[in-house]
Amino acid sequence: MDQSCRIHIFLIEDDQTDADRIQSVLQSPQFNLTLTRFGTLDAALLAFASTRCDLLLLDRAAPRLDPALRHLGSVHPDLPVIVLSTRDDEDAAMAAVSAGAQDYLVKNGLDGHGLVRTIRYAIARKQLEDRLRRSERRLYSIITMAQDAIISVDREHRIVLVNPAAERIFGYTAAEMLGQPLDLLLPERLRTTVSSSLDAYAARGLATPLLDSRREMLGQTRGGREFPVEVSLSPDIRPDGFPVTAIVRDITERRRFEDELRQLATTDALTGLFNRRAFLDNAQQVVGRCRRHHRPSCVLMFDIDHFKLVNDTYGHAEGDRVLALVADTCRRLLRNGDLIGRLGGEEFAILLPKSGMDAAMAAAERLRLAVAALAIPILRDQTLSLTASFGVAPIRGQEAGIEQALSQADTALYRAKTDGRNRIMAADADHSPFPAATTPTAA
Ligand code: GH3
Ligand code: MG
Ligand code: MG
Repeated sequence: MDQSCRIHIFLIEDDQTDADRIQSVLQSPQFNLTLTRFGTLDAALLAFASTRCDLLLLDRAAPRLDPALRHLGSVHPDLPVIVLSTRDDEDAAMAAVSAGAQDYLVKNGLDGHGLVRTIRYAIARKQLEDRLRRSERRLYSIITMAQDAIISVDREHRIVLVNPAAERIFGYTAAEMLGQPLDLLLPERLRTTVSSSLDAYAARGLATPLLDSRREMLGQTRGGREFPVEVSLSPDIRPDGFPVTAIVRDITERRRFEDELRQLATTDALTGLFNRRAFLDNAQQVVGRCRRHHRPSCVLMFDIDHFKLVNDTYGHAEGDRVLALVADTCRRLLRNGDLIGRLGGEEFAILLPKSGMDAAMAAAERLRLAVAALAIPILRDQTLSLTASFGVAPIRGQEAGIEQALSQADTALYRAKTDGRNRIMAADADHSPFPAATTPTAA
């Protein structure tokens, strides 16, 4: 409180002699005080509305003192009160302070300087209390309103604070969580790890940067359902760091959204196959694993023959349906672990891990026959047959990866096209092409 500020005091004292004495003690101009006298507390309360009051000096003889102090505290929580008494009575003093008084002074022997200092301290302390009360109130609202679970645990990892969001997210009531071990909210297999990392975290205490402590893990609901959470921790100011408070965010929705985005980014919408980039990324990894185990792999490319004719004859929408059907037919014929992607248009690629060229040529032949055998219902009473041409290449070398093999398969595919379509060409000379059948197009 600014020392130079003028302080406005209400004195409630029914004894005129006492009131005169207190007024004379405080009247020196150096104290910079204004004193307004009232015979009763009610009279003072009436004056609050129109007159500034920074502190109340209240005679202990006021009727029903303690309830009056409590009432004052509720209607004027910011107003400091000092109780004045003719008797030095320790119990009465404690009772007055418990009821909300800032101090309890004996009237006899009051000296101006001492009283003014007490008054100023009382005002300053009240302001601090008020700030603390407001900040607690704000904290309470934040904790109560937060959409994230807020959970504090003590040194034994027992839950000592939960908010309504924690009840909602974990499905327990506050009463069911308070006093229970934190394990209640964790999948069993994580409990030991979480417990030791919590101790390690708390031991670092305030040295821990709060923002660095965000981590993703799993929570467990009352019904035993596991769900992904993001946890931010904050240690207490006590040396052992406990209670540690955690803000726990349920990220189920975010995960689902991320999965959806990943799915969208990696999948070709028409056929449900990997798109070009996802095929290449995945193939790269699979090929790497095959190399480490010294297993060969091959890549196969195919392109539907005269597909433009399908679009031109039946329309683009029917063309789409045919593409999806061909993709589905091929996917069904592949083994577990084979990768298939749509590189673009009516062109597809398949990675056959742990397969040499003989196996790859045989797989291509199976696919070629399956495509040629399709009788696709189209329009009302027609069926459509089509064929595809294939190029097959081995994946070799340390550096030359999937991209180079694909380019070789593409060259072989081009030769299959120029040689008459509906056939399979190998990129290496050791494998002779499968002879062409007829070249059917749209029926
Ligand atoms: P070729 O035997 O030489 O491969 O002849 P083609 O007609 O199949 O080849 P071309 O590359 O000339 O034409 C490919 C056609 O595929 C043209 C394009 O309209 C069609 N196409 C590409 N993507 C799609 C698609 O997503 N949907 C549909 N309906 N058609 C597509
Ligand atoms: Mg084509
Ligand atoms: Mg094409």
